[in-house]
Amino acid sequence: MMSDSTALVLFSGGQDSATCLAWALDRFERVETIGFDYRQRHRAELDARGAFRVGLERDFPKWAARLGEDRVLDLSVLGEISETALTREVEIATTESGLPNTFVPGRNIIFLTFAAAVAYRRGLKHVVTGVCETDFSGYPDCRDDTVKALQVALNLGMERRFVLETPLMWIDKAQTWALAERLGGAALVDLIRERTLTCYQGDIKTTHEWGRGCGVCPACELRANGFTRWKTP
Ligand code: ZN
Repeated sequence: MMSDSTALVLFSGGQDSATCLAWALDRFERVETIGFDYRQRHRAELDARGAFRVGLERDFPKWAARLGEDRVLDLSVLGEISETALTREVEIATTESGLPNTFVPGRNIIFLTFAAAVAYRRGLKHVVTGVCETDFSGYPDCRDDTVKALQVALNLGMERRFVLETPLMWIDKAQTWALAERLGGAALVDLIRERTLTCYQGDIKTTHEWGRGCGVCPACELRANGFTRWKTP
């Protein structure tokens, strides 16, 4: 019922999840994608998803044959219940708890739980997410232990043998660019640079050698620094 060679990729339209999508297409025979609309303060990242998939299909015929359905789930309730800089027009800052106010409590747990429910129905075994403990901005739900605990909970709660895959867990942003190059060469690096968006401000007008973005928000900083470190070993 659940083939070993199937995967569902949590694909937001950013650099990390785009790299994870390529990683999954390289490994599994059937790969579907899922995204979440939780009333982010901009839609630019969600809009990048379609463009990136089209680019993949155009430039990578072998992967195109494996790339299956895409869906975007409406999780606007998450925006309703959280007061954060990702879902409200407020300045990005560090809160008293030491966490950035871009932290949406429970977000990755909720995403992975909904993804598993979809994977259950679609008969997909591997659930792939771009969370990372190395550059994790302090988000506790990006930690390896959180994901491992959730895998146990989901498998018990749904009576399945899902594998939650985290290809980026122990690598930094420079190594994420290197991984993209290893998977799809310069063509994939270019596609990620040009089509994905990581910027918290949703700036699609300003372009840099590492891609589009405001260049000053924490997400742009991480992306730009990683690109520079990858380019200058
Ligand atoms: Zn930015």
